[in-house]
Amino acid sequence: MIPQFLNRFLERDYGKVLAEEILRGYSVRRPVTLRVNTLKTDGQRVVSALAEVGIGVRRVSWYDDALIADGADEETLRRLSLYKKGEIYLQSLSSMLSPLVLDPQSGENILDMTAAPGGKTTQLYALSHGGAQITACEKDKIRFERLKFNVQRQGASRVNLLLADATKLDDFFRFDKILLDAPCSGSGTLDPSRPIALSQKLIENSAQLQKKLLKKALTLLKRGGLLVYSTCSVLNCENGDVLREVLDSSDGELIPIPEERFSLPRLPSPKGTLCVAPTELYEGFFVAHIRKK
Ligand code: SAM
Repeated sequence: MIPQFLNRFLERDYGKVLAEEILRGYSVRRPVTLRVNTLKTDGQRVVSALAEVGIGVRRVSWYDDALIADGADEETLRRLSLYKKGEIYLQSLSSMLSPLVLDPQSGENILDMTAAPGGKTTQLYALSHGGAQITACEKDKIRFERLKFNVQRQGASRVNLLLADATKLDDFFRFDKILLDAPCSGSGTLDPSRPIALSQKLIENSAQLQKKLLKKALTLLKRGGLLVYSTCSVLNCENGDVLREVLDSSDGELIPIPEERFSLPRLPSPKGTLCVAPTELYEGFFVAHIRKK
């Protein structure tokens, strides 16, 4: 059941018609999607291996490494040796956007600030062809173990793992790029057929933590360095409002994400940012690209 207050929040942010579309988007069953781990294999080999076990896939126009496995369920995919060997990673299409926008390059020193379970850490590493020096930080011990497992299984051998509260990292550190895939209410990914633990308090607390983490990220970034802020929330109080409050009082500025780069169902969002609408293919998701002046 979607809580009543969320309807109000969505109507306040988007108006009645779009709010209803978002609610419809929550209810649809999305196909399983996966990312080819190019550190270990390539798309053609994965497509062939899946075809051999009767799983057909569709490609995605904006990302060669993304596949949509229509008709397959997660459990079936998890039993495949492709999965066990870390040649594929089950990941929502929306969540593949943040590493693509950050565009990691070999030789760069990159912080993945809130990293577990590691889908984006390993994607960043693969996108840099294993050449970026990535530090993946995670505060929660159990989730950190999952991050460690995934990083190993995906063969992201040079990732430096840090069990720490990112808000307390030493200000002495400086990074070329930072991914802040922030903890959030999850309001983009709700499934009304399951119990929903969402409250106004959780949303308020998320927004406070997001501001704290974003301020810290700007401190840890080199001058001229680049940052991606993303959440799996569609609420303005966790996205646009967080950016406005932090960027107005810091030396960060938004860099527009070109509209034509990704062909996606979008919701209105601050100029230059990207908010994906929940649909039959996508989870709700927000991405902003920021430069430190
Ligand atoms: N980027 C991850 C991925 O793609 O697999 C998902 C990250 S999830 C949205 C946010 C993570 O931030 C959670 O694992 C949470 O435990 C962690 N977290 C929350 N507060 C943190 C903090 N202060 N420092 C570091 N990690 C934190």
